[in-house]
Amino acid sequence: MKKLSIEEFDELISLAQIKPRLKRELRFVNCVENMSDEEWDERELLSVSDRNGNNGVLLLALDKGMYVLPYELKTGITSSITGRSQSVICDFCRTWQRGDKSASIRFLKSKNSSVHYLCCADLLCSMHVRGKTDTSLTSRTQLREDMSADQRIERLNTRLADLVATLPIEPVLVD
Ligand SMILES: [Zn+2]
Repeated sequence: MKKLSIEEFDELISLAQIKPRLKRELRFVNCVENMSDEEWDERELLSVSDRNGNNGVLLLALDKGMYVLPYELKTGITSSITGRSQSVICDFCRTWQRGDKSASIRFLKSKNSSVHYLCCADLLCSMHVRGKTDTSLTSRTQLREDMSADQRIERLNTRLADLVATLPIEPVLVD
């Protein structure tokens, strides 16, 4: 992803017609302040959330361009049977996550319908697929997949492209 300034981010948010209430709550500067240039380069997706992290927008840099997806996030997955925290595999990056580090993310499809996915609560999928987090190392021991980082990145891109294909959404900026 190309590095964004706060002005460029605001522009994307306007183009995507994000609701004013959510727009006001997004904390772009807080979300990106620790990101190096290298990290920007290596991001397929970037979450910019509100203070609690429950609502935000997911920026996706895909082949077709830049997408802005408003989301709701519910952290912590528990088993409906035992009520205990349950580990999940992220639907986007296929990283194994403990229940307390996992989440369910919801995107609106229309006024009355939405789609849910299981995901990493930190939404740092781009870093997990590159093996740059402790979580990704734990995941490698849980799921014995014989894949290179490049293959994981490709899979993440495919899954994100599938995600936008299921939503009534167009890129806000076309490369
Ligand atoms: Zn993930």
